[in-house]
Amino acid sequence: MKKRFETSVIHGGYDSKEHLGSLTVPIFQTSTFTFHTAEQGEKRFAGEESGYIYSRLGNPTVTALEETIATLENGEAGLAFGSGMAAVSAVLLALTKANDHIICSPGLYGCTFGLLKLMKEKYNISHEFCDMKDEEQIRQAIRPETVCIYVETPINPTMKMIDLEMVVKVAKEYNIKVVVDNTFSSPYLQQPLTLGCDVVIHSATKYICGHGDVVAGLAVGTAAFINEVAMTTQKDIGGIISPFDAWLLLRGIKTLPVRMDRHCSNAVHLYQALKGHPTVKAVYYPGDAEHKDYEITRKQMKQGGGLISFEIKGTKQDAQQFLNALHMVKIAVSLGDAETLIQHPATMTHSVIPADVREQMGITDQLIRLSVGLEAWEDIWEDLSQALNQIQMAETV
Ligand SMILES: *Cc1c(COP(=O)(O)O)cnc(C)c1O
Repeated sequence: MKKRFETSVIHGGYDSKEHLGSLTVPIFQTSTFTFHTAEQGEKRFAGEESGYIYSRLGNPTVTALEETIATLENGEAGLAFGSGMAAVSAVLLALTKANDHIICSPGLYGCTFGLLKLMKEKYNISHEFCDMKDEEQIRQAIRPETVCIYVETPINPTMKMIDLEMVVKVAKEYNIKVVVDNTFSSPYLQQPLTLGCDVVIHSATKYICGHGDVVAGLAVGTAAFINEVAMTTQKDIGGIISPFDAWLLLRGIKTLPVRMDRHCSNAVHLYQALKGHPTVKAVYYPGDAEHKDYEITRKQMKQGGGLISFEIKGTKQDAQQFLNALHMVKIAVSLGDAETLIQHPATMTHSVIPADVREQMGITDQLIRLSVGLEAWEDIWEDLSQALNQIQMAETV
């Protein structure tokens, strides 16, 4: 029987009876698997007998992770990769052929954007950004050669939201697949497959791992699609995860709901505190009832998440000075870790985007992205506010 989410993170993909009673999944640190006989090897290759062959094609520790993420995302099957980008590229290359067309959300992870550019240059697979504010906008972007709609929501780093149910409704009319990068929400807060989307991707490096010590990716979808990816763009391109990293992810996943609850409650305290500070011009948090897409958050997310973006009053130098004035909060890209991380998108994660396009997207020189950690929120605020106060004082002298 299907268990509740908080139980599935612990028991979802592993049965200790299969492994000599070992409470936690063993790390199968092996490259290959021996066959009892030549005939058994023949049957395994022919797919007539289930069992492991070689770790690029499957490994028991990795299988436990894949079954766990499939359960958590409410999908038929899951697949693990050596990075989030290995998952993104394997899925997109499996879905497309030369001359196809992809519609994407108005903001994308930088390397996903880089991959789409490469696919355009090499295979003439074109892409088009679409605000997806209403059905009509999506319909206008659809062409006969459109094969998929690729969405991130909330969008990095502006925290704009996309209504997944609305996107799915239009996509189904045209038989187009909807792929969601669910990294920012984690399956605890948002389950796109339950809303009718076709494929979910994660940079497991972020909330799923949660401890800042692994780079990994995951994809979930129908058994047929995931098997196709496993047998083509994963097997032959080779972006697999190591058994040890899979084990670390399984370890992290057990506390995903507990961690996410704290990330979210800390974020609620901090966005409220930030809103009240005189040096802060604007705060963008999807769980804020005053956020312009709050209705979408309420519909498709359990809570507002652990990421906050805010604009400070001042210049780019003020923004950098603010970061330099922090003591505990760490200046770093990535997100979803126990430690609170802060970064300046215009000069870091989104610096490759031309300045005018960046401004248009809402990524100003004053915009700061905060990945709220698991520390006491009061300590995070003490650090943020002392650094903000320094900017304010510098402004007034
Ligand atoms: C980090 C990230 C990726 C890329 O994942 P890696 O694990 O770094 O390869 C993709 N999408 C989003 C939204 C991310 O935050």
